[in-house]
Amino acid sequence: MKPTILTINGGSSSIKFAFYRPGEPPTRCVFGKMARNGLGEIILTLTDEEEVSVPFPVALGKSATTVFVDWLEKQDNFQSVQTVGHRLVHGMERTEPELVTQDLLDDIRRISPFAPEHLPVETDLIETLRKRHPELVQVACFDTAFHQSMPRMAKLLPIPRRFEAKGIRRYGFHGLSYAYLMEELARLGDPAATKGRVILCHLGNGASMSAVRDGQSVETSMGFSPTSGLVMSTRTGDLDPGVAAYLGHTESMNTKEFYHMANHESGLIGISETSSDMRKLLKLESSDIRAAEAVELFCYQAKKWIGSFSAVLGGLDALVFSGGIGENSAIVRTRICEGLGFLGVKLDENRNTKSAPIISSVDSSVMARVIPTDEELMIARSVARLTQ
Ligand code: ADP
Repeated sequence: MKPTILTINGGSSSIKFAFYRPGEPPTRCVFGKMARNGLGEIILTLTDEEEVSVPFPVALGKSATTVFVDWLEKQDNFQSVQTVGHRLVHGMERTEPELVTQDLLDDIRRISPFAPEHLPVETDLIETLRKRHPELVQVACFDTAFHQSMPRMAKLLPIPRRFEAKGIRRYGFHGLSYAYLMEELARLGDPAATKGRVILCHLGNGASMSAVRDGQSVETSMGFSPTSGLVMSTRTGDLDPGVAAYLGHTESMNTKEFYHMANHESGLIGISETSSDMRKLLKLESSDIRAAEAVELFCYQAKKWIGSFSAVLGGLDALVFSGGIGENSAIVRTRICEGLGFLGVKLDENRNTKSAPIISSVDSSVMARVIPTDEELMIARSVARLTQ
């Protein structure tokens, strides 16, 4: 069967895409990524069969979107595509995926300053496809949607009230991943999926957590932007605003420079001075104190957020680890959970070492799980549900 759904996840540094054949669930036949390498060349990596990388002889001045759509149009798989699902990092108050219309596009352009590194790329991709292939049905899936159920106190930022009217509040991100994890939890028959207290940990290059009560997000660590919350690979996570003011005075650091530092030079790379990659830091930690401290800070802060979210939830029934670090690193999971016995979290080290689907011990009152996330499949499912 030929693919009919294309998913596109356009980010600041790459465009990820996947082709799906229809069905329940839709099945993926090709997954790929287009990104610039250190030399500024555009490299395409297709990862479903074996990994192949193709450098593109790019004409100067062509945008990544144009290169991507030019390439797409030459693919056999693209010829049968009828619907395209896009991940949009921000959707303000929107709670559900939506069909792309001119009104939606205009609105997304208007809110671009809320996610300046992502939304312009994402709208560019949608508009290019609309112009060149008006027959395609396009669907926008919002990373913020999952968290719109949060109560007012979780959304309110303690700055002058007038800014709230301008949309400055906590939105939360990684929503497609969290929606997928909750669907998986339900599929696995965990009662906490619909009735109970769950903490979802999406620990990848970007890292965040979500507190879920009775299937609804009630709190999340990312806020107005994805820079806040946990320590991440290159982002600070929560940071005292006094640091911005101090660096402005003493280092003449301007807003743009501060934004760059907080988003691209901080977190694991900032502390370790060597790598933003958890795997590399774990290899280095025994010989390099900077790597050891970066890993320790990551685990310490993750533990702190779990404690804080457990207080919000009034206890905990299920703890889910996901994302590249959460799914694969037993040692990071162990360190995060060390000392959480008072909450009822007890890992079975044998299961944890294997990254088994359930990593808690039989006498743990909290069910700790590893669930590989799949944001692309969540987009494909949303597209299928909205267009069937
Ligand atoms: P992104 O947020 O870009 O999608 P991923 O979810 O792929 O990122 O996570 C990437 C992170 O996962 C990197 O820090 C990488 O080192 C880490 N990671 C992947 N596999 C392992 C592993 N076996 N042990 C520790 N960290 C791992």
